[in-house]
Formats: sequence, C-alpha cells, structure tokens
Amino acid sequence: MSVLIVGSTALDSIKTPHAENPRMLGGSASHAAVAASFFSPVNLVGVVGKDFPKKYVNLYHRHKIDLEGLQIAAGKTFHWSAEYEVNMNHRRTLLTELGVFEQFTPHLPASYKKSRYVLLANIAPSLQHHVLDQMSKPKFVVADTMDLWLNIAKDDLVKLLPRIDGFVLNDSEAHQLTESDNVVAALKRIHKMGPRYVIIKKGSHGSILSGPGGIFICPAYPLHNVCDPTGAGDSFVGGLMGYLASARGSIDANIRRAMIYGSVTASFCCEGFGLKKTTTVKRADIDRRVKELEKFTKF
Ligand code: AMP
Repeated sequence: MSVLIVGSTALDSIKTPHAENPRMLGGSASHAAVAASFFSPVNLVGVVGKDFPKKYVNLYHRHKIDLEGLQIAAGKTFHWSAEYEVNMNHRRTLLTELGVFEQFTPHLPASYKKSRYVLLANIAPSLQHHVLDQMSKPKFVVADTMDLWLNIAKDDLVKLLPRIDGFVLNDSEAHQLTESDNVVAALKRIHKMGPRYVIIKKGSHGSILSGPGGIFICPAYPLHNVCDPTGAGDSFVGGLMGYLASARGSIDANIRRAMIYGSVTASFCCEGFGLKKTTTVKRADIDRRVKELEKFTKF
C-alpha cells in the first residue's frame, strides 16, 4: 500500500554551534516522504518554486517518491532558516520566506484520492482540511502540527481533530493545546477532542502513544552524536506511516512496532544535516537498529 503525504517542501538553512548549511532540501513532507519510502511507495503533494534545484528532484526520484502531486509554481521555494543552541532541544527560527508556499492549495491527482494511508504533515490546518475534503474513504489518517498553528489557527486545528484517526504533536504543543503539563492527562484530553490514537513526542526522550490498545512508551535510539535534529519529528511520523502501510493486520496490532521503526528512522535523520544522512541509509541499517533497540529495552 502506498502512503499519501501532504506538507511543506522547503529549502532549509540550518545553523548549529558546530556548522552552518544553507538551502538544503527540507520541509515536513520531504523528511516524512524519504522516511516512509524505506517501507512503502510514497505519493507526495507539495509546492516548490522554479528555483527548486534539479538535484533535489532527483533525490525524490532515487527514493521512488511519486511526484505527480508536486506543483511547480512561478516564484521562489519556501525558505526556512533556524539556529540551534548548544542544547539541541532548543532552536529558534531566524527566517521564514514563504514564497510559493503562501498561495499553496493542495490539489490531489485523481489517483491519490483513494489512498488508504494519509499523512497530513505539518502545514496550515485549513490545508489539511482541504486534503481530507478531496479524499474518498481513507483507512488511516494521521496529522502532525506545530506551535505556529496553535498560535494562529487553533480553531481550525481543533475542528480537524474529529476528522483524523491519529494525531502527533510534541510535549510543549500538547501542553499548549490542553493546558496540562502532565502528559497522561494531556493524552486523555486530546482523545476527547477526536483522535483514537494520540502520540506525544518528547525529542531525545522518545514518545508515548495512547490508543485503543492502551499506552505504549517508545524509546528514542540513543545517539552519541546529534548533528542536526531538524525533521526528526517528520521522519518519525513518516517512518511510522510507511511501516503501517506495509504491514499486514490491524493498525492496533502494528502501531507499536511502527513507532519503533519511526523512532529509528528519526535517529538517522539527527546524525546528518538536513536529509544528508537519511538518504544514505538502507533498510538493513534500520532493521539492525530496531533489533538493538529491542535489546536495549527488554527486561
Ligand atoms: P521539525 O524539525 O520536525 O519541527 O521540522 C522542521 C521542518 O519543518 C523543516 O524542514 C522546515 O522546512 C519545516 N517548517 C518550518 N516552518 C514551517 C511552517 N510554517 N510550515 C510548514 N513547514 C515548516
């Protein structure tokens, strides 16, 4: 089964205490699509400008990501720049140049409208609604978000929650949405808003799922060296959706393992700038880390 991924396709300029890399391939949909592609075919919907480098189109092709839904518009590609502190859990946005992203309306090609697995990666909630309006009977829809939408489009986001099966957000966003800083209480409150599956991400401390099968605590793979965590959340949810689309059986039977695969895929993302490391990884490297993680957490 293929996964439909709709989100931002960007050029990211990232600064860490150790290095600086301008205009790398980024965006929520790019990170999620590459991560999902290790497990399932991917259909990507996004927008880029005429300045979008050919080498990045080739990168999508190498990962067999279908680009029928990628719009190429007159103007500049969305450019986002951020700087990390020594503690890489903290970053600040330096620049957001929306370019063609400002006018983006996701149009689904006819063949994408019947997708069973849908990932609404981080974009404005109104656009996430627009994608769902075009779908016919998806099996499993997951949405991601960011603090910006809680600040400027909370109503739209709250209205999206009854329309989706799974919602993924980080701990500070969960706190902002529910006004509870207790993760377990926040999970309960978010269920009441709609989704049957809620995952709260906690950066290098892993993530926690609440669903019909109860709670699952998913570790992060312990890394010696974090180079650039940009896109780790997108890689996590992309890997999770790719794995689910590839697995036989019910969502409930597979979602815990899917989180582990998402977590391991995200660990590779953190080891290189942008998508540099993730795009060198093979499925066997992911499987090896999953086995290690199994050993690290067995008791
Ligand atoms: P993460 O590190 O998981 O929060 O995701 C970072 C990615 O989000 C980067 O590749 C950015 O290009 C992308 N991004 C940043 N701001 C926005 C925005 N306002 N809308 C959509 N994507 C964004």
